Amino acid sequence: MAEVFLPPGVRYECVQCGECCRALEVWLTDAEAERLRQAQWPPEVGSPANLTRKLRGRGPHRWRLRPLPIGACRFLTTDNLCLVHQRLGYAAKPFAGRLFPFSFVLTPVGTFVGVRFECPSVVRGVGRPLDELRPHIRRLLDEYVRTYSPPREGPRVRFFGRYELSWRDILRLEDQLLAFLNDRDLTVREGLLAGLRLVRRFASEALRGGEGRRIGVDPGEALAQSETPEATATERVLARLLAASYAGATPHAYREWPFLRRMGWRLRGPARRLAIAVGLGAVSLPRLGRRVLLKEIREVAVGKLGPDSEAMLRRYYVAKVASQGFFGLGCFGRSFAEGFDALAASYWVVMWLARASAVAHGRIEPKADDLEYAIRTLDHSYNHLPEFRGARERVRSALFWNWWTSEKLLSEGD
Ligand code: SF4
Repeated sequence: MAEVFLPPGVRYECVQCGECCRALEVWLTDAEAERLRQAQWPPEVGSPANLTRKLRGRGPHRWRLRPLPIGACRFLTTDNLCLVHQRLGYAAKPFAGRLFPFSFVLTPVGTFVGVRFECPSVVRGVGRPLDELRPHIRRLLDEYVRTYSPPREGPRVRFFGRYELSWRDILRLEDQLLAFLNDRDLTVREGLLAGLRLVRRFASEALRGGEGRRIGVDPGEALAQSETPEATATERVLARLLAASYAGATPHAYREWPFLRRMGWRLRGPARRLAIAVGLGAVSLPRLGRRVLLKEIREVAVGKLGPDSEAMLRRYYVAKVASQGFFGLGCFGRSFAEGFDALAASYWVVMWLARASAVAHGRIEPKADDLEYAIRTLDHSYNHLPEFRGARERVRSALFWNWWTSEKLLSEGD
């Protein structure tokens, strides 16, 4: 049986907060949709004809469960339990609901398990170590493979451009990235910066036809490089636009809204992006519950983070690197180097969101609660953003976002 790799340091136990049932779309196979339509439900769930929406395309997900217009799953009870689970049993729940917060990347060397940090239990690091949940995760994986026949990564990984590496080399490189991130003498920001420099150096050596294979590098050596220039005004605008994209992901009940509300959202989206990009005016961000003045965000200092905040960030980035979800099939076919660059850039976004949360709570510097908000908001959209997907966005980032942009942003720290 193929090996299953779990991200280190992650804990999980559902605390029945119902957050995932309010935030995520539920995709259904034909059999799941039929099962839900055939069962008897109380009137507040809606008529069988109204439960599901047919999707275009030919994948195994042929249907989408229609959420309530307020955004929640229509089977979520007032005490945050699942009505399908209560009435028909755990096994009858749609697979998407049972799978959360896990995801899988299938490779020739084994399956790597990813975890959604949108879940409060995961982001706070409370619950059972994943190793104790291994049998449960394995059962989910078996069902996932059986039902969806998911695509698998090939024997070689696109590292950068057309240059490829074997999985063995990729894992060696990742060991080094994880060593940087786990090094308690470095902050997470420094660990990502060291990783970014290592990946860049590795890529440029490889592209020049050099060895490019000296993977074991001392973090001091990776960090001790000539000074990085300051980010330009354009790069700062791009970074804020990225933050705006992460913070403004379309709510999953969007398609259920009445026409005028949908139009209002569509019109507000670009206005909000523009305001965030230039840093002027005020915006409402998801889950913050109040508008924040954008100039106030700039005034929030990001000095040394507290130990709880650092630990949360470390858990997040270690899990992301270890789960292989930041490149390849897990991330719209991005190469390893591009994917790591985007992952490192997300640190700037996390800090921007944490500062926005600090403003909303009247704090002068971000605390662990702000970091939790920021990571959960980021991870809601991570790997789902059009920035990583559409050809137009790819061209835009190729033109304006270069190799050094993330490094400059990380060097400054905020
Ligand atoms: S978000 Fe996490 S803790 Fe909350 S209901 Fe979903 S799985 Fe459970």
